[in-house]
Amino acid sequence: MEPMAPHPLRADVLLVGGGVAAVRCARTLRRRGFAGSILLVGDEPMLPYNRPPLSKELLREDLPDDLVLAEPESWYERRSVDLRLGTRVERLEAADHRAILDDGTAVAFGQCLLATGAEPRRLPIPGADRALVLRTIADARRLGAAATPGETAVIIGGGFIGVEVASSLAARGVRVVIAELADALWGGAFGADLSSWARARLEDAGVVVRTGAAATAVDERAVHLGDERIDAGVVLVAAGVTPRTELAADAGLDVDDGIVTDALHRTSAPSVFAAGDVARVAGARVEHWHAAREGGERAALAMLDEPVPPARAPWVFSEVAGHQLDVVGSATNAAQVRRIGDQERFALAYVSDGVVEQVAIVDAAVPVDDARALVERGASVEELERALLSGV
Ligand SMILES: Cc1cc2nc3c(=O)[nH]c(=O)nc-3n(C[C@H](O)[C@H](O)[C@H](O)COP(=O)(O)OP(=O)(O)OC[C@H]3O[C@@H](n4cnc5c(N)ncnc54)[C@H](O)[C@@H]3O)c2cc1C
Repeated sequence: MEPMAPHPLRADVLLVGGGVAAVRCARTLRRRGFAGSILLVGDEPMLPYNRPPLSKELLREDLPDDLVLAEPESWYERRSVDLRLGTRVERLEAADHRAILDDGTAVAFGQCLLATGAEPRRLPIPGADRALVLRTIADARRLGAAATPGETAVIIGGGFIGVEVASSLAARGVRVVIAELADALWGGAFGADLSSWARARLEDAGVVVRTGAAATAVDERAVHLGDERIDAGVVLVAAGVTPRTELAADAGLDVDDGIVTDALHRTSAPSVFAAGDVARVAGARVEHWHAAREGGERAALAMLDEPVPPARAPWVFSEVAGHQLDVVGSATNAAQVRRIGDQERFALAYVSDGVVEQVAIVDAAVPVDDARALVERGASVEELERALLSGV
């Protein structure tokens, strides 16, 4: 006898992916009075959660999983947001307004948000598949269990995640080596000044920072940098992420290092929107928590045909060996760096043609919200100094 096809489902709004973008979309829809049905399908077994603590608090301390939840379980019931967790959306039939789940269930939708996020980039070097990566709570638990005090951890990649994990593991008594390919931390994206500051803080915390260091192989107990071998009990590859565009690409949507959308998060398929790490919105793809949150909220407004405010300047928050780091805006290569503040608490303004394009803020030396608004206004460095110096 043929197995019975699973009962088809219907949702006015289908949210694909259980990350912050999807949850914030649902939350905004309900806040704006949307009364239709909402179904969120996510392939991780756990309720949607925030990823930033995975490389910070969750790695430093023994915290329960539910501390990182995007919303408590009761919220989904109260807001009538149906959940299908541990379930993947296998196929999108955009023209027919239908999605097929991995158990064969068909979901007919009115509108759909693709918020499938990103996944860690794997390095094309021998043995890289032995290394750990960090994206999910399960990854964080695996890393935490392997990196015991006294153990040596080699982190390939000195970007945000590499620097944060190094800081957290060093605080737990793990010996840490960062191997960063570029000549400066964060792939050189924030220039020599911020990298030197961070390097000094990490070294004070006992982390060995190697820049210009290309990992060429990973084996059972070591990472190889060409002829040099670094002993390692734990190896983490933190070499950036790639957007999870397969579903959209297979459905024939425009994809170009991210699902291509207009400023209203509309993809090339009618009624299908995209937000978060997976989306290239009006030419820019931003892989940070605030962009995912705000993107989900903006997509919800677009779904409701309500006015959508302009996208905010990027804002990433991070940590370096116990210091808070916030970066707002994005700088071009031409930018000159100006320091505001003293040696300890300072901000760096990245200025091009007299306009502040980006500000990096250490230990909240200046108010982050104000700096973000000034960057959005295209303020001059003098304006920035006048507006912010009183707070330094
Ligand atoms: C360890 C770590 C620390 C971070 N720290 C910071 C920080 O300090 N500051 C900052 O600004 N940003 C930080 N980020 C980045 C931030 O967490 C991301 O920008 C944010 O999670 C993106 O949210 P999202 O909703 O777009 O995607 P995600 O959070 O990636 O969620 C997407 C979800 O969709 C699921 N999915 C994918 N495909 C399918 C499918 N076909 N069917 C069903 N489900 C699917 C995925 O499994 C995933 O659960 C950090 C990220 C990590 C990993």
